[in-house]
Amino acid sequence: ASFLSLEKLTLAYGDTVAVKDLDLSIRKGELVAFLGPSGCGKTTTMRSIAGLLTPASGRISLDGVDITRVSANKRSVGLVFQSYALFPHLSVFENVAFGLRLKKMPVSDIETRVTAGLKSVGLSKFATRKPAELSGGQQQRVALARSMVMEPKVLLLDEPLSNLDARLRLEMRTELQRVQKETGVTMIFVTHDQGEALSLADRIVVMLNGAIEQIGTPEDIYNRP
Ligand code: ADP
Ligand code: ADP
Repeated sequence: ASFLSLEKLTLAYGDTVAVKDLDLSIRKGELVAFLGPSGCGKTTTMRSIAGLLTPASGRISLDGVDITRVSANKRSVGLVFQSYALFPHLSVFENVAFGLRLKKMPVSDIETRVTAGLKSVGLSKFATRKPAELSGGQQQRVALARSMVMEPKVLLLDEPLSNLDARLRLEMRTELQRVQKETGVTMIFVTHDQGEALSLADRIVVMLNGAIEQIGTPEDIYNRP
């Protein structure tokens, strides 16, 4: 059964078509990697799923609901950008709590959620620190926790590991996989890195020139002649 489906999705910037007639069906709890060269349409596809770009044509549905024209803040899709801008003047705790406060969630529930969120990314001890007092990898984990506590149906990660050095990247890879297994959230992440896609994903979507070139499990993709 499809949880998130893109049907004949065409995405454009003015007259420039970035993605054409894309069909993709993703199961609940799947960890999907978008792989492909720069400019092939990965980020554009993510932006449309997040509600930041209205499709020129086609349809996006999530959990049985047509969300093609639902605004970004009402579609239960979380987005973690490459540049994971945290609020520098707020503590780690307050950074993670930010979205829940906006939603006017009761204070005690916020406590519970944020505490659990920080625990899940291994940052319980850092709750009172400011972002500048954390490493790049830790900051990225704060950004991940900030999205996770909103309990989105789908979590989109646009090159979440690209700004990290090799060691932190490996650490975050493991972290992402663990968080995904623990929460069962459906996750899509964009990467340039084939190794990353192969080691993390249940399924890999290889894009080229605004279309899907290959799709399959890492074994399918890897063993393909
Ligand atoms: P990446 O390859 O990591 O996805 P890019 O360098 O292609 O990132 O794009 C970075 C930013 O620039 C994005 O916000 C994207 O929307 C914007 N962008 C990319 N190409 C163009 C373009 N031709 N005209 C205007 N903005 C663009
Ligand atoms: P990727 O994420 O795979 O690197 P993008 O989705 O960022 O690719 O870009 C797909 C195509 O859309 C590219 O040709 C890029 O130049 C173009 N593009 C991206 N963002 C913009 C933008 N804001 N304005 C115009 N063209 C853009």
